[in-house]
Amino acid sequence: MATEQQATGIGSAEAVLRAALGSMPYGFSIWGEDRRLVLWNQHYEQMYRYPPGALQVGLSLFEICELTVAVGNHPGFTPERLHAIYQQRLDEASDPLSPLQAQKAIRGQVIKTSHVRSPGIGWIITHEDVTQEVEGQWMADLREKALADQNMRFDAALAHMPHGLTMYDGEWRLVICNQRYREMYDMPPELTRVGTPFQKIINYRRSIGATPVDGELDYVDQVLEATRAEGTRIQTYRMPNGKVISVHQSPMPNGGFVAMHQDITRDIERMEALEASRNLLANQNMRFEAAVNNMSQGLCMFDSEERLVICNAPYAAIYTLPPELVAPGTTLTEILEYRFEHGSVPKLGREAYVSSRRKLVTDRSAAKEDVEMEDGRIIAIQHHPMADGGWVATHEDITEQRQIEARVRHLARHDALTDLPNRVLLREEMEKLEARIQRQECVAVFCLDLDHFKSVNDTLGHGVGDKVLVEVAERLRKASRETDIVARLGGDEFAILVQALDGPRGASALAERIVRSVALPIEVDGHQIQIGTSIGIAVAPVDGKDAETLLKHADMALYRAKGEGRGNYHFFEPGMDEAMQHRRLLEQGLKVALERGQFRLVYQPLVSLADNRVCCLEALLRWDHPERGLISPMEFIPVAEETGAIAAIGDWVLHEACRAATAWPEHVRIAVNLSPVQFKKPGLVASVTEALAAAGLPAHRLELEITETLLLAETETTLATLHRLRDLGVRISMDDFGTGYSSLSYLRAFPFDKIKIDRSFMNELTPQQDSVAIIKAVIGLGQSLGMATTAEGIETEEQLAVVREQGCSEVQGFLFSPPLPASGVDALLGTLRPDRKIRRREFAEQT
Ligand code: C2E
Ligand code: CA
Ligand code: CA
Repeated sequence: MATEQQATGIGSAEAVLRAALGSMPYGFSIWGEDRRLVLWNQHYEQMYRYPPGALQVGLSLFEICELTVAVGNHPGFTPERLHAIYQQRLDEASDPLSPLQAQKAIRGQVIKTSHVRSPGIGWIITHEDVTQEVEGQWMADLREKALADQNMRFDAALAHMPHGLTMYDGEWRLVICNQRYREMYDMPPELTRVGTPFQKIINYRRSIGATPVDGELDYVDQVLEATRAEGTRIQTYRMPNGKVISVHQSPMPNGGFVAMHQDITRDIERMEALEASRNLLANQNMRFEAAVNNMSQGLCMFDSEERLVICNAPYAAIYTLPPELVAPGTTLTEILEYRFEHGSVPKLGREAYVSSRRKLVTDRSAAKEDVEMEDGRIIAIQHHPMADGGWVATHEDITEQRQIEARVRHLARHDALTDLPNRVLLREEMEKLEARIQRQECVAVFCLDLDHFKSVNDTLGHGVGDKVLVEVAERLRKASRETDIVARLGGDEFAILVQALDGPRGASALAERIVRSVALPIEVDGHQIQIGTSIGIAVAPVDGKDAETLLKHADMALYRAKGEGRGNYHFFEPGMDEAMQHRRLLEQGLKVALERGQFRLVYQPLVSLADNRVCCLEALLRWDHPERGLISPMEFIPVAEETGAIAAIGDWVLHEACRAATAWPEHVRIAVNLSPVQFKKPGLVASVTEALAAAGLPAHRLELEITETLLLAETETTLATLHRLRDLGVRISMDDFGTGYSSLSYLRAFPFDKIKIDRSFMNELTPQQDSVAIIKAVIGLGQSLGMATTAEGIETEEQLAVVREQGCSEVQGFLFSPPLPASGVDALLGTLRPDRKIRRREFAEQT
């Protein structure tokens, strides 16, 4: 609208213009050459909803853009962007002959603008609201398009329907039939033309084998019936190819009908599968129930309301619950009440039990617990909370299991024969005592060993032996006090842990009592048996402060007691320990002696009495200990045998001895001592073969000396090894003959090449003594068996005279030579003559 100043400036003509402008049916605005607003009418102002007074003469194009954006005419536009568009419009409308027509949408309205360029004035723009016209046109377009679309869609839908569709008119002639229908029945095209009679189509369908699944009723009749009934009729067909088609016929008012043909093969299959899985589930449930009820444990499941969901038969059995209490829905409280009333009461009392169960439920924690019942049963309960607030628990009566475990535990700690505690339990008890020993309490450990028990076993049999042991156990138990622990350590070894002693004197008194008691004759199966016992005693804390030491010291004392004659007791003494210490040093030293080259061999000649020549040299082992000096083989070989070090040492001796012998004249053999332990490991034969091969020594120049201890446990393998050694060509000598009990019998077991009569026989060798008779017998035996005989330890001319007279073939001893180092052997060989004997002092062993 024009302002006051405008009105005064233009006069009454202007009033006319204003009225004219105001009555125009459209909006009107004039823009000057400077593109600023000059004139406008009310329509214009309203159309764009400019607030009254906002429009001013001289408003720039940009300012109008700002205004129009501010009032919300162009959502999403910035004034800048709009300005660019408006500028362009004005530019484009610069030709006065062709006004620019444009449309713009303002808040859902469509406004048509027409820009006219009027040189000298600027631009005259008319604004016309054409919303309604536009909408009318659009709707018309839309409707037309929709109809076309619908037809198209209908055709497409019909063609692409998943179902077959047919429609018949009042005369039952085909009106519509879709592609799917043709495919379903594989219809020839001439049968699906519009106007084909229904009967013709039915005939065709029958001819291809489409048969109704239920009822023989003629299809046509059915359709008729359906039409009469004016309801949908459903009929199912099975096709020869296995497809199942269901047909829905619906009558139409004109007497015709529509039929929908649906391939339901898949549905049927799905239904069948569903049925099968239902059966499977039922089966599974059955199996689940069987499994649950056949569990060895009781099982129960409660929901978050503490109501029973399920429980099995063993659960009911453990607490003897009646059927009504195992029904789902029973509350935990009901079950507990019943249990407590009917005797299934836990030892810890009902309150404590209930609160402990409740705590599990509220804590929602998994737990495992063994509950002892008042009736003595032990029930193992495992509680597992479930996500829904309930829980599953298993209950198992483990009473029997516990009893078995207790029995097993007892057996593991007791001796089966006497039921006395065994070594394990004794150790445990002793370890408990250590604290008391630390407090200077006096405790003693007795180690006992029965005298002559082995001969009882050997002569009267194990049955009698066992009864003797049981009786001895009983006597030991009686002789000692309740607090003492009498244990059987194995065989005929016992131990007693004596507590709260008033000193060694008390220990002596007890030991004497025991010795006397065991010495009393024992009657078993009509035999009067007399055995005895030897006792070693270690007293804590003087003789040791821990179980290990005390037992060890008592054992050492026992050896001393036995050594001093049986039926005796002996206290531990510090010297005994030194002996053990010494032995331990030997053991450790032996481990490294070989690799440190501390061993060497010396050789002692064996002289043949036939020609007074050295026929053989016996290799004897020497250990030069860095601290202790020379150690005798008598001392270290038993230790090496026990630790197993003898295997490597013996192997070294074999190699070294064979090597040394190669330097000697052909007729001189080398004798090597073998330990029984070397026979226990495989590889002895290989070791001997290798030693010979490495040295290049013929086998017949090697003699192997074994002692009868090897044959004590005469096994097949020992004899086989001996035979294999002999098969190599090596000679085998029986060493130290006569020291054992059954030397003679061993001569029958193996064809030895030589018997070496032990030097102990030579000691008391005078012509009147028994030993002469023995030597005579042995030499005679050797001669008749074709075995050579060597007399060991010949020190005097007298001894030599005796053995020579008895026909001994070889002699060995200090009379001829002590063992010599290798260098001494070289000097000796060839020089030894019967008249020029080598004396000790001449070839003193270099040690
Ligand atoms: P042995 O096989 O009976 O060896 C003979 C022992 O008697 C040697 O003691 C020897 O020095 C000693 N002896 C020799 N002539 C006389 C004599 O006239 N009077 C007396 N009283 N003794 C004499 P050695 O060398 O101390 O060996 C002791 C034992 O050690 C050997 O007894 C043998 O059993 C064993 N031994 C030695 N070397 C080895 C070895 O390399 N391997 C094995 N396994 N045992 C060996
Ligand atoms: Ca020997
Ligand atoms: Ca010997």
